[in-house]
Amino acid sequence: MNKVLIIGAGGVGSVVAHKCAMVPEVFGSITLASRTVSKCDAIADSIKTRFGRKINTAQVDADDVAQTVALLKELQPTLLINVALPYQDLPLMDACLEAGVHYLDTANYEPKEEAKFEYKWQWDYQERFEKAGLCALLGSGFDPGVTNVFTAWAAKHHFDEIHTLDIIDVNGGDHGKAFATNFNPEINIREVTAPCRHWEDDRFVETPAMSEHRAFTCPEGVGDYEIYRMYHEEMESLVKHLPSIRTARFWMSFSPNYLKHLEVLQNVGMTRIDEVDYNGTKIVPLQFLKAVLPDPGDLGKTTKGRTCIGCIIQGTKDGQEKALYIYNICDHEECFAEVGSQAISYTTGVPAMIGAKMLLEQKWLRPGVWNMEQNDPDPFMEDLNLHGLPWKIIELTPAQATTFQVACS
Ligand code: NDP
Repeated sequence: MNKVLIIGAGGVGSVVAHKCAMVPEVFGSITLASRTVSKCDAIADSIKTRFGRKINTAQVDADDVAQTVALLKELQPTLLINVALPYQDLPLMDACLEAGVHYLDTANYEPKEEAKFEYKWQWDYQERFEKAGLCALLGSGFDPGVTNVFTAWAAKHHFDEIHTLDIIDVNGGDHGKAFATNFNPEINIREVTAPCRHWEDDRFVETPAMSEHRAFTCPEGVGDYEIYRMYHEEMESLVKHLPSIRTARFWMSFSPNYLKHLEVLQNVGMTRIDEVDYNGTKIVPLQFLKAVLPDPGDLGKTTKGRTCIGCIIQGTKDGQEKALYIYNICDHEECFAEVGSQAISYTTGVPAMIGAKMLLEQKWLRPGVWNMEQNDPDPFMEDLNLHGLPWKIIELTPAQATTFQVACS
């Protein structure tokens, strides 16, 4: 019987726990642990009510390697699913090495004191995982995650060479709040305020945050949005593992209202990640801001609309130019009805469950540290259709691909 330990009882952790519980033939025993055990217990209650299945809960501070090792040794899971925060990636990888447990996460490591997004820290564990005979699967969310698998699947079945990759992430949802982030506010704001880097002519080019944007019309009536070019971590691994890619860009939709709030928060210093003195106490403004913003895990009740996340891929096949758009559309209210969460948590949590399933079913299990695109995309693509994130593919002309015209094809 496979045992898994999920760490992190936030918006994403809740979806992972619910989705794992829905696949008992793969996830025989599930423990959900977090800093705050009452959050784990509330998720366990929801799972019991919805699916009649009991999962276990535990308390752990994942920054403390010894604590996690003790928990791992007590539970002896096959796999640790890390859906806490990116800061915990390295301590949790250390704990897995010490306890002999496979590892999976959804976001690359970030040092707390600097908003720096690089795989280097985690790629440096390659030899240690290989020697220990353990597997670490990195970035098994939607983006990174599904977007990497979409690209690998296109490379395997549709292209001889991929030259241009545009990943477009639209959240067409409305949560009814004046300002809220769709996932952990601290991580989200660090990401969107960082300078933009994109891959052009085989190198990363840096531009100011949010300085490049364009209009995008989603397929299937999801709507018209302004999308902004920004840095996203999957570009780093994709251009490494698919070296024919000459241009890679990541685009995300933001409403004028979100951008207006963000600009004000930045201008007044509330997005700073360094410590400031407040009445003799050191506080980090962004962490304080997180404490007063809505909890993304609670947004499901009020969020309406759909997400639309996909990849426009251009390249060649049999000497001819070719272009495709592969995408998923996910409805916030349907996610809430199924597992009590909004679609951002859902589109991250489902691929984390599927990545875990790929490891436990031995389809992707091998010693070392791996990004998603280094695995056979086929079983993962099949499971997306079966577990709540069906995808579609549209053939584009090169002109449509260049101008992002995906809606009227
Ligand atoms: P939340 O803030 O909602 O949840 C994070 C959870 O981790 C909280 O329950 C929190 O603790 C727990 N946690 C934090 N620090 C520790 C610690 N030291 N020890 C134990 N538990 C800890 O975040 P989300 O659920 O929105 O995001 C989870 C992860 O998913 C993040 O890494 C995020 O970057 C990633 N993500 C990835 C996406 C993708 O597509 N690849 C998209 C969206 C998110 P507590 O129990 O105290 O509440």
